[in-house]
Amino acid sequence: MSLFDAVELAPADPILGLTEAYNADTNPNKVNLGVGVYLDEQGKLPLLECVHIAEQRLAEASKPKAYLPIDGMPAYRDAVRELVFGADSSALADKRVVTVESLGGTGALKVGADLLKQMNPSATVLLSDPSWENHRALFNRAGFRVDTYRYYDAEAKGIDFEGMLADLRLADAGTIVVLHACCHNPTGYDLVAEQWDQVIEVLRERNLVPFLDMAYQGFGFGLERDGAVVGRFVEAGLEFFLSTSFSKSLSLYGERIGSLSIVTADEDAAKRTLSQVKICIRTNYSNPATHGAAIVATVLADPELRATWERELGGMRERIKQLRTGLVQRLEARGITDMGFIAEQIGMFSYSGLTKAQMVELREKHGVYGTDTGRMCVAALNDGNLDTVADAIAAVR
Ligand code: PMP
Repeated sequence: MSLFDAVELAPADPILGLTEAYNADTNPNKVNLGVGVYLDEQGKLPLLECVHIAEQRLAEASKPKAYLPIDGMPAYRDAVRELVFGADSSALADKRVVTVESLGGTGALKVGADLLKQMNPSATVLLSDPSWENHRALFNRAGFRVDTYRYYDAEAKGIDFEGMLADLRLADAGTIVVLHACCHNPTGYDLVAEQWDQVIEVLRERNLVPFLDMAYQGFGFGLERDGAVVGRFVEAGLEFFLSTSFSKSLSLYGERIGSLSIVTADEDAAKRTLSQVKICIRTNYSNPATHGAAIVATVLADPELRATWERELGGMRERIKQLRTGLVQRLEARGITDMGFIAEQIGMFSYSGLTKAQMVELREKHGVYGTDTGRMCVAALNDGNLDTVADAIAAVR
């Protein structure tokens, strides 16, 4: 008998498991549209120029590797707050925002979830249906009951906004509502400004707890416009949680660098909240890592590097749009005229509307890997694989 006899083999992660299957595939034309990673025209993960220069500077001024404070590198925290809230944010001026460095967007969600659990152990978490695969597991693991609100309208290829509002209106006070700030993963459909205002109204009326997840700032319409929803929540006077990530926007996936901000009612609440967030961090991993934070702080603080970043981010954003159009055109050339919605979706993903059986066939017969839900990462397309993907989709339709 062994201690581990009762440990069950868990199924592979639905997304990372796809990459394992892709790696094992011997098809020379295989295409991985499974994970949410932006690849360049050569199919390679880009090292952004602004990051490269920042790293050179950091290497030249190489420092001893001290521990960071529990809440992270101060210069990083300041730069991130300015980026996501805007330098002239009233909430920042009122000192009622807590911001901590986190291990990517996932780390921010987990620290936020741990604090929320402590604040209200019996709360339910509501996710959009569908949502990023890890949201449910993460909030479940943090001890919450997880349910969904209506979001994707498969028929209309858009958002079931009335359904969403109706579900939020039925939620009990204190329910935690996870909302994608921009570039909804997996559907690619975002609320427009007036819809956000209506959602904010319901959140306020029903006393719900918003948790904005902003993992793709800059991939929709640019940093400012994508981040505007944060300002709307502040202006509406809501208290809320906000997770952000530089994994995609600075192509810093492996550095695990993000942030958690909590907008509270006043400076005193912020002080008390920060003291509890620090305990969540301290008991999980003590304090965060230096390198990613140093890169981001360097890029954001230097006007030239920041301009380079915005140009590079704009380049990624525009290229994704071209890839969307390129795919739609190629599908049309193959007689598929009802998938034009791919060009209207926003961000790195496309919810293709293909069935599980079609996704399996894409994978097994054509070496094109997307998730069973029909999600494909359009940011992994390029001129060299667009035809293969269009041929494959045409063949399974
Ligand atoms: N939230 C959403 C909606 C995401 O899509 C992702 C990344 N796929 C994350 C959070 C987590 O980001 P990170 O990789 O920085 O942990």
